[in-house]
Amino acid sequence: MELSEIKSETIIEPFRIRSVEPIRFTTMTERKQLLKNAGYNPFLLKAKDVLIDLLTDSGTGAMSSAQWSGIIASDESYAGSESFYRFETAVQDITGFKHVIPTHQGRAAENILFTTIAKKADVIPNNTHFDTTRAHVEHNEAEALDLVIDEGREPQTIHPFKGNMNIEKLEKTIQEKGSENIPVIMLTTTNNSGGGQPVSMENVKQVSKVAKKHGIPFFIDACRFAENSWFIKTREKEYADKTPLEIAKEMFSYADGCTMSAKKDGMSNIGGFLALNDDSLAKKCRSLTILTEGFPTYGGMAGYDMEAVAVGLYEALDEGYLRYRIRSTAYLGDKLIEAGISIVRPTGGHAVYIDAKKMLPHIPALQYPAWSLTNALYLVGGIRGVEIGSVMFGLQPDGSEKASNMELVRLAIPRRVYTQSHVDYLAEVVIHTYEQSEQLKGYKIISDPSVLRHFSAELAPL
Ligand SMILES: *Cc1c(COP(=O)(O)O)cnc(C)c1O
Repeated sequence: MELSEIKSETIIEPFRIRSVEPIRFTTMTERKQLLKNAGYNPFLLKAKDVLIDLLTDSGTGAMSSAQWSGIIASDESYAGSESFYRFETAVQDITGFKHVIPTHQGRAAENILFTTIAKKADVIPNNTHFDTTRAHVEHNEAEALDLVIDEGREPQTIHPFKGNMNIEKLEKTIQEKGSENIPVIMLTTTNNSGGGQPVSMENVKQVSKVAKKHGIPFFIDACRFAENSWFIKTREKEYADKTPLEIAKEMFSYADGCTMSAKKDGMSNIGGFLALNDDSLAKKCRSLTILTEGFPTYGGMAGYDMEAVAVGLYEALDEGYLRYRIRSTAYLGDKLIEAGISIVRPTGGHAVYIDAKKMLPHIPALQYPAWSLTNALYLVGGIRGVEIGSVMFGLQPDGSEKASNMELVRLAIPRRVYTQSHVDYLAEVVIHTYEQSEQLKGYKIISDPSVLRHFSAELAPL
């Protein structure tokens, strides 16, 4: 018999580690005090007191040796630096868009786009606006409309592309509001606020067709374009043999532009861009960039940041990386499901979302069950997640409180940072917390800032 090659089911981390950052172990007694000192708000904890930090996947990834070598070789010229041209070439190659405007992060691209195109009483449809996207639309006194398919709002419903836009509702919105009042149609890939759920190529094409028919520009919120490409490759039959790069190129080819946070699938700690085809719109956007970000060949980034992004965009599209990335998130989701814990299904690309309403039925929504679970995960095992529930969304503009539709705890996975044993430990902590869930108590807010209160509110256990 000839020697055969192993066909392993184990997906190993597709990198080896050459620089390490120690993490600090604390005891539960210490964590009780630390959490109390932080006003029972995990945002106010010091990062050094967190063992495994899943607050966000934004800007928290590990960069590669290739990115670091780009950083060393950067050109820091104020205007026309080589680093900009490398950045621009990478973005143009992947997105196909003619104009590339660098920004310091994603929301700066949103600010420039919406300030330039949106006016009072305009309507901007999206599958689901991310919170900064919504904030910039509303800051320009336009209305941010979420038109995700119904399945995208139901945590337990399984659907391969829960981030898809409801095309009928989109058509209806255009008919009702008039295309002249819709300066842009956005599509967020993957749909972050909707559980990191992907959008199918079929849906991208349909949105593009509707936009073209009505003469409305179509922009992609591309923060997780590479993860979305992987879901298309693995869930949409015609794309099984295409590379993630080919899929990304096709996806962008249906759009007129995109906004991007390089802190996600740019694999960088900072950065972003606005890319688009329209010459006159690009001209207006560049003028505003000079005002708010910087000269258009650096736009709020250092030359070395642009180098990191230029390399990172391709690394995010590497098949070995994406297979590991999506699998390692699903691996955590599978373990929790197996233990009987309700999560948003199927598991998204960058995070697992635990349904705290299901786990803690004894805690009323306005005693913040997802907040309670978030704090319990820290106390039990030193893990920091984030509440996506009534503390984040409950405060109404008139000062009253209304329970959020869902009470979720998001465990966002930083890119290339944690290994399988970290994830195994993480699952143990969540399961151990679940096993004692009747012991968890609700919280009350004792000091409450009026905007984005979850970042700085102080709470107390009931
Ligand atoms: C993170 C994010 C943004 C904003 O990007 P920042 O870099 O945080 O400013 C916009 N849209 C989506 C979908 C995001 O995930």
